[in-house]
Amino acid sequence: MPELPEVETIARGLDRAIAGKTVESATVRLPKVVLPEPRRFSRRLAGDRVDRAGRRGKFVVISLASGRSLVVHLRMTGRLIVQPAGATNLEPYTNVVLNFRDGARLCFADVRQFGRMRLVEPEDPWAAEVGLEPLSDDFSFERFSGLLSGRTTPIKAFLLDQRRIAGIGNIYACEALWEARIRPGLPAGSLSPQRRRRLHEAIRSVLVRAIEHRGTSVDDYVDAEGLRGGFQNKLSVYGRDGHACPRCGKTVVRTVLAQRGTWWCRTCQR
Ligand SMILES: [Zn+2]
Repeated sequence: MPELPEVETIARGLDRAIAGKTVESATVRLPKVVLPEPRRFSRRLAGDRVDRAGRRGKFVVISLASGRSLVVHLRMTGRLIVQPAGATNLEPYTNVVLNFRDGARLCFADVRQFGRMRLVEPEDPWAAEVGLEPLSDDFSFERFSGLLSGRTTPIKAFLLDQRRIAGIGNIYACEALWEARIRPGLPAGSLSPQRRRRLHEAIRSVLVRAIEHRGTSVDDYVDAEGLRGGFQNKLSVYGRDGHACPRCGKTVVRTVLAQRGTWWCRTCQR
């Protein structure tokens, strides 16, 4: 599933490709993936113009001139692919198409059909439940430490909770904990100030580096131009059970924590 760096990469590509374009029409080929219902969805989009494309947590947010936003969650296999004017075939498994006045189009394609596209009104508080943005100034050490205090949840499960910190999924939770040398199963509130500090820095650092490499393609992820990311070649532990830990040389293990595969080093994560 795309996490913050992948969604950020997609949003930046979309912004370059579709900002300023006017929607001629929207075609919904699979009704269950849009809100409101398809007819209203299409009617409201027609004639609106894309101001910019951005990201909030794991959501792509396409802001429109009307003040409405098109909020997209890609889930497992969703893709947002821009096709230039004159493209003949739609991207395979396209569920929604935005046709722009200049002939280009945006395909929301999704093999597994879990992804969702929602047109929200300007006053809709859709992001009220979405937590702190880890790359924003709001994510200070003090705020982070405050979130951890008193929490008995394993630190790794805590990092995945989108209501606390937004955008971190399994890949970057594993990588940040490895970088901070923290055992994934430790209760979040039990971390010493020094460890909290290391983890706060590691979260930012791993996300920034992953964005620089345009995300991690361990599954279907591609950006808005259909290109794979490069951070899969930089991973230290995620998906690397049986390989040597890049820090201490011992073997990386995979365990299951809160029903999720968890990759870590028993020797240097204590
Ligand atoms: Zn190690």
